Amino acid sequence: MRAALREAERAAREDEVPVGAVVVRHGRIIARAHNRPLHLNDPTAHAEVLALRQAARRTGNYRLNGCTLYVTIEPCAMCAGAMVHARIQRLVFGSREPKAGAVGSALRVLNHPKLNHRVEVVRGVLAAESASLLHEFFDRRRSEARPRLPDE
Ligand SMILES: [Zn+2]
Repeated sequence: MRAALREAERAAREDEVPVGAVVVRHGRIIARAHNRPLHLNDPTAHAEVLALRQAARRTGNYRLNGCTLYVTIEPCAMCAGAMVHARIQRLVFGSREPKAGAVGSALRVLNHPKLNHRVEVVRGVLAAESASLLHEFFDRRRSEARPRLPDE
């Protein structure tokens, strides 16, 4: 999760929403990625999707059986769906995402009763660090967007 947090910090430095992800297999990191939709002009370029693509390329298999995906924030519906397609074994995430989280907060895509693949879920790992990166990012964005008064 520390490695995922470092990825999230890289996203923040690139003015992308700070979310980072890594994929681990047999105790080794085989992929690491951060959010890049702005830079890639790609609405699907979430940290999780980029990490899954990298892991699948590296292993030469689109099925990532036995892999764990670590991500700093609860995944959205798209990313949760991609994890099911990849047959990820375990998801470890940091902070919950009440507005769009698809692992139980806003929706339940992962481990939906209609889907046959089950993913083991661990929540709340380094949640405070993950959330504070997001809050700092949005605070900074809001203060930059706010028009300056003449005496500021
Ligand atoms: Zn996503």
